[in-house]
Amino acid sequence: MTNRLVLVINGGSSSIKMALRREDTPGALFDAIAERLNTSQACYTTSDGERGELANATHLDALNALLPMVERHLDRPLSAVGHRVVHGGERFTSAQLLNDDIIAGIEANVPLAPLHNPANLTGIRAAMQLLPQTPQVAVFDTAFHQTMPPHAFRYALPDELYAVHGVRRYGFHGTSHKYVSDQAGLLTSLGKGNGAWLTAHLGNGCSSCAVLDGRSMDTSMGLTPLEGLVMGTRSGDVDPNLHAHLARTLGWDLNRIERLLNRESGLLGLSGLSNDMRELEQARADGHSGAQLAIEVFCYRLARSLAGLSVALPRIDGLIFTGGIGENSALTRALTLKHLAVLGLRIDPDNNSALPRGQAGRIEAKGSPAILVIPTDEERQIAEESLDLLDTQPRSQTA
Ligand code: ADP
Repeated sequence: MTNRLVLVINGGSSSIKMALRREDTPGALFDAIAERLNTSQACYTTSDGERGELANATHLDALNALLPMVERHLDRPLSAVGHRVVHGGERFTSAQLLNDDIIAGIEANVPLAPLHNPANLTGIRAAMQLLPQTPQVAVFDTAFHQTMPPHAFRYALPDELYAVHGVRRYGFHGTSHKYVSDQAGLLTSLGKGNGAWLTAHLGNGCSSCAVLDGRSMDTSMGLTPLEGLVMGTRSGDVDPNLHAHLARTLGWDLNRIERLLNRESGLLGLSGLSNDMRELEQARADGHSGAQLAIEVFCYRLARSLAGLSVALPRIDGLIFTGGIGENSALTRALTLKHLAVLGLRIDPDNNSALPRGQAGRIEAKGSPAILVIPTDEERQIAEESLDLLDTQPRSQTA
């Protein structure tokens, strides 16, 4: 079957995003977002240019309002609804057809993702209620990383914390790392799903990954998405004793420290100016020292992470940049590569700066392993994993 349609849904705590995708086709046929749900300012906007108020709408109300707009774009029934779910824990190593048991499994992972999983479940429940005849699939951000070996996913903590309480490294952004590493295989003639890749997903959240023949071997994020790289407002790695230090010296409680590390740090904290790389590049060009420092730390720490991850691979076929920063910031790519000569990776400065924004391309110098810029497409990955799952399910389960 080809040309099937999938509605991809991403339920957030106060928003719901949706995109209508056609199988094997880049770009969305239609997308929409409803925001500030459960408040008097709730509203929606769509790719058709429609906007409207949805005062006090719940996720269910918003979906109910938006589905007729989706239906205008359907030339056949929806084959599936694909839901992004942040945390699948150790149970979910691939996409799952949603039923009561799978929903209970997502609920069981709420302690690991206390903000995200309940929000994802709200979207799932609304869609199952409004589209009861359509198979609904959960695609997990963590699932791709379940191939990591124990020496990569275990923390050096007493065993009980892992065995009883699930404290381990899980990793996130799995759909993006998988999508771009698959594409890299196609772009380099190694073949889809083949190759030894370092991937850098650099958006508001940032993570790096080592991928070998379509399997995640290690990644920078851990138990939560705070570990690893410098991000827009997240600190990434800090001394694990920082919590105790701040509590003792400043009297800060856990909420204050969590706010510091998740919302006030990263590019924003270092620059004192912004979490937005575009704005920081402009400020750096205007001589802003905080912006300059923030970009330097961001790139150095990224390079350090990639060099560290290289030990998870038998060789390096290439490095992939993706996400809003990775796809668009030639400066970030160039500064990061300055620190990576040790891996034999060398960038071609002209190709790097000439690459049209948002386009896939190769920017390595002659003799270097491939350096690729690949626009990520998590919605496409979710749509394709949803359809692949349906293709392997017995008919009775999807009817
Ligand atoms: P999200 O993680 O929310 O999906 P994106 O992947 O869209 O975020 O990435 C957002 C980041 O990409 C921001 O820091 C933004 O400044 C940066 N970005 C987007 N376009 C450019 C550009 N042309 N140059 C530099 N940075 C850019």
